[in-house]
Amino acid sequence: MGISGLDILLIEDNPADAELIDMMFSEIMREQFQNYSLKRAETLVSGIKALCKESFSVVLLDLGLPDSSGLGTLLRIEKKAQHIPVILLTGLADEEFAAKAISMGAQDYLVKGKITGDSLYRSVLYSIERKKSELLLKDSEERFRAFFELSGMGALQADPSSGRFTMVNRSFCELTGYGRDELLALSFREITHPDDWAADSDMFGKLLRGELEQYDREVRYLHKQGHVIWVHVSRTLLRQTGGLKKPIRVLGIVHDITDRKRMEREIIEMAHHDALTGLPNRRLFIELAQIEMAQAGRNHKKMAFVFLDLDRFKEVNDTFGHEAGDQLLKEVALRIRKSLRKSDTIARIGGDEFNIIIADLARAEDSAEIARKIVESFRAPFLIAGHDLHVTASIGLSIYPDDDQDMDTLFRYADIAMYHAKETGKNNFQFYNPAINVHSAQRIKMESWLRQAIARGELLLYYQPMVDIKTGKMVCAEALVRWNHPEMGLLEPKNFIPLAEATGFITAIDEWVLGAVCSQAKNWRQAGLPPVCITVNLSSRFFQKAGVADSISRILEDTGLPAGSLYLEITETLAMDNIQLTASQLAQLSELGIQISIDDFGTGYSSLNYLKRLPIGRLKIDSSFIKDIATDPDDRAIINAVIAMAHNMKMKVIAEGVETEDQLDFLRQADCDEMQGFLYSKPLPPEKFSELAGING
Ligand code: C2E
Ligand code: MG
Ligand code: MG
Repeated sequence: MGISGLDILLIEDNPADAELIDMMFSEIMREQFQNYSLKRAETLVSGIKALCKESFSVVLLDLGLPDSSGLGTLLRIEKKAQHIPVILLTGLADEEFAAKAISMGAQDYLVKGKITGDSLYRSVLYSIERKKSELLLKDSEERFRAFFELSGMGALQADPSSGRFTMVNRSFCELTGYGRDELLALSFREITHPDDWAADSDMFGKLLRGELEQYDREVRYLHKQGHVIWVHVSRTLLRQTGGLKKPIRVLGIVHDITDRKRMEREIIEMAHHDALTGLPNRRLFIELAQIEMAQAGRNHKKMAFVFLDLDRFKEVNDTFGHEAGDQLLKEVALRIRKSLRKSDTIARIGGDEFNIIIADLARAEDSAEIARKIVESFRAPFLIAGHDLHVTASIGLSIYPDDDQDMDTLFRYADIAMYHAKETGKNNFQFYNPAINVHSAQRIKMESWLRQAIARGELLLYYQPMVDIKTGKMVCAEALVRWNHPEMGLLEPKNFIPLAEATGFITAIDEWVLGAVCSQAKNWRQAGLPPVCITVNLSSRFFQKAGVADSISRILEDTGLPAGSLYLEITETLAMDNIQLTASQLAQLSELGIQISIDDFGTGYSSLNYLKRLPIGRLKIDSSFIKDIATDPDDRAIINAVIAMAHNMKMKVIAEGVETEDQLDFLRQADCDEMQGFLYSKPLPPEKFSELAGING
């Protein structure tokens, strides 16, 4: 071992002690160090002076000087010689003193009278080395501190056991809004959002137990001003090297992500809300419903699941355009909201469908009050695009936990109840009850079957002749739809038309029937069958659609059938439902050359005066009047009157459901023009019908 140069400052007033040390140095040290020098000062002041003038490798300091004594002397020297190791020369030899001296910056101490050349040599050598590493450490700590301070991110150190901050940088202060001293009196717990604390301390536990080296998390901190800030934190733990590796300090880097979180929230918000009405969408609604249900369960309360469907929304869209439709939906959302309590949840889950949760019910019946309020709220017209629109809603309700405890089931039940409301005349609300379900489970199955019926070619048409009573010849045929159901066999309209009407699928059926009838009629013509006109039944949904005349004329064009061969039947109730719409639709159709019949006449309450203004060629007297002709004089009187008035208005009259010769006799006497019924023929499949028509022609 060798140190190339050694310059010693000995501050010692006692000449004998100084002599001794000088001697030891000259004996031992001279051998080791080529450039060895020793300078002596006798007082503290002269020592300090020397330190100011020259540089030294080590200071040997006597603590009992004429101008200073005790550990205070050390402090004064330290001030001038921060980078130089100081070894104390003292007469004392106790541990307490030693510890104190070392903690005050001395590298070592030697007890006078016990100094040997050897111990002096070792002490000087180690002191110099130790001071060197001390300085290096200090330097690196300073560099760390500068880095810590300058980094743009929040940085902190904390005590691992208490979580108290021991060091924070400026960015961290700015981020949290606290001053440095304020933060040093706080710990993680006080600045972490209470809802994030448990998870955060859980992670920290893992770090402490050594299960993790470091971790990153996004947590909420509480700003000094009280608002929440989102931060990304990275934490790691410094441990003792060797031994038990006790954690010494936590290091953390914190970085503000509040803006990013806000953007994320906006995106989530968009994904969970309906852009048009601003209401929660289906996804969010399901989440909310789950929470509400759990709460109702805990509080032993009931809640209602509500399914609301507008009754004539499609019509509004078709007639007034999508913008009007959108406007209407917004207004509807507002009206529903107004009928609800603050605690209730409403969502738009598709087109014109809304779901509502009526929470916190003591009794299931209480939800009826709210449902009634909603229905009532639709009574006033909606002013949309300058029109007063009358739109109603059909509402279905199911009750948790009475009807079921499963959310999907409850939604399905509310949906079923809503269809029930539609079937019972719309514009009302219905509670789910298992009785409708028996029929509804079946119905749901039917519905999905029905949707595929057209594509699978399961729909068929039967044709029933309409006969001129005077000549006994067939003048026309009514096309009547049948469904060849894969499991249930041939179904009559009463088994599927109501469902098709409720689901709106009826328009697809009607369209199919029109196409099929037209091409069938054309085929028969081409096969040389005598021309026969065919009449087709139209549902109200189809008839009231905008552009019906256009789609029918397209079908006629496609099949090349003359318009005069096509009759359309609309029921009396439908015709009277919206006289204005009926008039405009019929005007367009008759302009095409298509003839119109009023079906099931007598079952509605139409005034013939109204009908006079419509381009109608035929009245079909409903079969219920024909049935009782023989026994009911009222029916006979009605039939007579209807025939007389219809003739007066230049309409033909046909009686439907004629089954007996007696009935036919009466009709003949009453001057009825035509008849249709089992007496002549049942509705027939096309092959049978063409046979009959061939013979007949
Ligand atoms: P509708 O238009 O009044 O048709 C007459 C119904 O009376 C037919 O029933 C026919 O089979 C039945 N019928 C005819 N003669 C007699 C008789 O002498 N005695 C008895 N008891 N019944 C007779 P169907 O085929 O079951 O049709 C029922 C209803 O379904 C039709 O009443 C019509 O409103 C509707 N419908 C049938 N086909 C279609 C269609 O293609 N589209 C639409 N929208 N509705 C249709
Ligand atoms: Mg008919
Ligand atoms: Mg009829």
